[in-house]
Amino acid sequence: MTQQAYLATLQERIAAVNDVLNATSILTWDSRTMMPAGGAETRGHQIATLTRIARDLLLAPETERALEEAERAVEGLAEDIAERRMVQQTRHAVEHHKRVPASLIQERAALRTVAQAAWIEARSKSDFSIFSSYLAKTVELSRAYADCIGWREHPYDAMVSIYEPGETAASLKRLFAELRAGLLPVLDVARSRPQPRTDFLFRDYPEEGQRAIGPSLAEKLGYDLQRGRLDTTVHPFEVSFTRNDVRITTRYNRNYLPASIFGIAHETGHGLYEQGVDPAYTRTALATDLVGLYAVGGTSFGAHESQSRLWENHVVRSRTFWQLHFPELRKHFPDQLSDVSAEEFYRAVTRVEPGFIRVEADELTYDVHIMLRVDIECALMDGSLPVVDLPEAWNAAIRRDLDLVVPDDAHGVLQDVHWSTGYIGSFPTYTIGNIMGAQVLETLRRQRPSLDAAIEAGEYSALAEELRTRIWQHGRRFMRDELLERETGRGLDPAPYLAYLRNKYAA
Ligand code: ZN
Repeated sequence: MTQQAYLATLQERIAAVNDVLNATSILTWDSRTMMPAGGAETRGHQIATLTRIARDLLLAPETERALEEAERAVEGLAEDIAERRMVQQTRHAVEHHKRVPASLIQERAALRTVAQAAWIEARSKSDFSIFSSYLAKTVELSRAYADCIGWREHPYDAMVSIYEPGETAASLKRLFAELRAGLLPVLDVARSRPQPRTDFLFRDYPEEGQRAIGPSLAEKLGYDLQRGRLDTTVHPFEVSFTRNDVRITTRYNRNYLPASIFGIAHETGHGLYEQGVDPAYTRTALATDLVGLYAVGGTSFGAHESQSRLWENHVVRSRTFWQLHFPELRKHFPDQLSDVSAEEFYRAVTRVEPGFIRVEADELTYDVHIMLRVDIECALMDGSLPVVDLPEAWNAAIRRDLDLVVPDDAHGVLQDVHWSTGYIGSFPTYTIGNIMGAQVLETLRRQRPSLDAAIEAGEYSALAEELRTRIWQHGRRFMRDELLERETGRGLDPAPYLAYLRNKYAA
């Protein structure tokens, strides 16, 4: 067989894995948009079965044989050639999955089902003790999982590596110390300012009117509705079934207009990334997270979040955007916005108001919520924080950083779904996204001075095209920091993000 034939055999195997994972994704999309609640339990089994099939395909002897041949075939190729990267990533994933016994995967899946039910009950009763023992078990199984994958300095390193390869407890500690030192003074300045008027955000905005805005907003930013859809859900998300079918979702809050507008902008950013992946990577390892077993083209969770935050915050949550587009918004809601100016709208959607809930946080306090969670996750994983002491640790951190007294567990330690689903280690990727988005955009603006004028004129295609060629098209070919080094000359650097926040909130 020729080199190409060996590679083709491996790619056929990976394409099958990708197909199965896309099938799990469509089941997930359905469960969060269309499925009646009664389907939850059987759907859980269906997704677990398909995920197991994908893993088995990856670990099958035929894949191993094709992989060994392909490894020999790409040996002479340059390090960052796409084919070589496909082979390397497949090897990395195979070794990863080999280390985790099927019994542990099953145990984690079984725990997830009961832990989520316990979390829902605990949250509705605002009583952490109902969830406590399930979280303790989640931490225990996460420790076991980390030990299987292997770690050197901290068990958290193994968990983070699933979502954000390259980051560790130590690297995050350094990064967040720098961010915190720059961020808290900006927050102080912003908090000392008078609050803008926000009354009009909470007026009655019928869903029908909001629905009329959504698709055109996504399209304005470059989202291709021929290869995408916008649907309604409870917890908005984006999911792709190859670059040619990329779906976003939103929720409409009748009494809070910004939720759908900025939510759609955010998910559009995720969607643009997936729609922009090189067509040649379709159904390959460069459009599949073979470690996380998820059919996704973005190179890491943090890189993905960098694109959603870039469009949501730098483009749509900007003064120039609303100077340009507020009149259109007012056409949809002439009565509700009759006494509001574009400037007032901009100020209202950029107000800084520390609160208890992460998903409702403004740009300045959002990362504070994340850093608190990462500190706690590290301490849970290394055993320095017993689960029973968690509410106390949480409340103390909120008091220290935001000067707020948490009233109950529902507004504190029980607010996020993540830990009940077994996800420990994904929180840092939100803040990494904020940092990376600002860093990429700062370089772009410096290298393409004409870009600002285009954005100010409402022509977003120039920005989309730059991001497509620099980030999106590469899929998973480059690791996050590799991509950053290619495009910005350095790895993750919080300075551009801090400069952006200072300029926007404390200038
Ligand atoms: Zn996101």
